[in-house]
Amino acid sequence: MAQHIHTCSVCKVYTLEETCPQCNAKTVLPKPPKFSPEDKYGDYRRKVKREELCKKGLC
Ligand SMILES: [Zn+2]
Repeated sequence: MAQHIHTCSVCKVYTLEETCPQCNAKTVLPKPPKFSPEDKYGDYRRKVKREELCKKGLC
């Protein structure tokens, strides 16, 4: 059975529990999300910029 290391977002302690043993706040998994929403927005911004250029006849 795998246990995951959680971190407290308040006092940054590492624990295997879902609540912090020090302040009782909910702990979070420090793993990054699988997909990056920033890339998605980057694509969106590039698309918008390109469309703006086309409207001005620059592409
Ligand atoms: Zn804490």
